[in-house]
Amino acid sequence: KFALGVDIGGTKTALGLVDSEGQVLSKTSLATDLSLTPDEMVGKMADAARTLLSYNGLQAADLQGIGIGAPGPLNTRLGQIAEPPNLRSWWGFPIVQAFQSHFAAPIVLENDATAAALAEKWVGAAKTADHFVYITISTGIGAGIYSHGRLITGASGNAGDIGHMVVDPAGGACNCGQRGCFEYIASGTAIAREASALLGRPVTSKEAFELAFSGQDPAMEQLVHRVFEYMGIGCVTLINTFDPELIVIGGGVSQVGSPLFDAVSGYVKRHALNPSGRTTPVIPAELQQDAGLIGAAALIHIKY
Ligand code: ADP
Ligand code: ZN
Repeated sequence: KFALGVDIGGTKTALGLVDSEGQVLSKTSLATDLSLTPDEMVGKMADAARTLLSYNGLQAADLQGIGIGAPGPLNTRLGQIAEPPNLRSWWGFPIVQAFQSHFAAPIVLENDATAAALAEKWVGAAKTADHFVYITISTGIGAGIYSHGRLITGASGNAGDIGHMVVDPAGGACNCGQRGCFEYIASGTAIAREASALLGRPVTSKEAFELAFSGQDPAMEQLVHRVFEYMGIGCVTLINTFDPELIVIGGGVSQVGSPLFDAVSGYVKRHALNPSGRTTPVIPAELQQDAGLIGAAALIHIKY
C-alpha cells in the first residue's frame, strides 16, 4: 500500500509515492509559485500526483492516504494553513479540504519540519535516538523535536518553530515582527539576501557558498562564516534546552555539506553547556532532500 507524501516549501513542493517501509517509489517536484492562488497550486499538485500514479500503474483508489507537510504555523485540527510568514498568500487556506476535492483518500496535515523529523526517526539518521532535534534550513528554518521517543507537538501542534527564535536582537526585521530571528539571519533566503546586497546583484545561496569556498571572495567567506556561527548558536540553544543525543540537519542549505557540519559541530564543541552537550553530534539528514516527502507519507503509514 502506498501513501502520497506532499512536502510544501516556500521554494518548491515535492510529491512522492512512498510505501509502508518508507521507500520512495516515485517522486516529482514543482516550484511553489506564489503568483498562483493556493487553490490553483493544489490543482497543479493534484495533476502531478495523478501523473505519478498513472506512471506507476496505480489509481487514486490505491492510495492509503495523503500526508501533507507545510510550513507552520498551521491549524492541524481544522486542516488549515494558519499564518506562515513565508507563505502569506496561503494564510487561512483550508488545504485539507482543497485536496479532498481532488482525492477521496484520508488526508493528514502536519508541520513540514515535524514530518521530516518523523521520517528521520522512521527510516533515517535518528532511528535509534529517543532524544533528537531535526532542523531544516531551507527557505525558512524549522525543527521537529523528539524527547523520550515522542514528538513534541505542543498545545496547538506548532512546537518547533525555531526559525523565529531570536539569535541576534541587533539583526534586521523579520517578517514575523521580531528582530534578528534565526531564519532572518541563517536561512537560504537570508544568505541569498545578504550575498546579493554584498555584490549588488541577485545571488542565490548556493552561489554565495561557491564564492565563499572559492577563496576568491573574502567578504563572502566572512558572510558564510558568520552564518555558520549563527547556526551554531541555534544548535547550542537547542542542546542546552532539550539535551538531545543528536542534532540532524536537513533542507536545501544542508546540501553545502561538510563545511557547514564541521563549522556547526565546532561551535557546539566550544559552547554547549552541559558536558554531554559538548559532544552532541550534528549530522546530515540521512534522507537528505527526501526527508520532508517521506515524513509527509509517514503521517499516513505510522503512529506518531
Ligand atoms: P523549500 O524551502 O521549498 O523546502 P529547499 O529545502 O530546497 O526548499 O530550500 C530552498 C533553499 O535552499 C533556497 O534558499 C536555496 O537557495 C537553498 N539551497 C538549495 N540547494 C542548495 C545548495 N546546494 N547549496 C546551498 N543552498 C541551497
Ligand atoms: Zn521571525
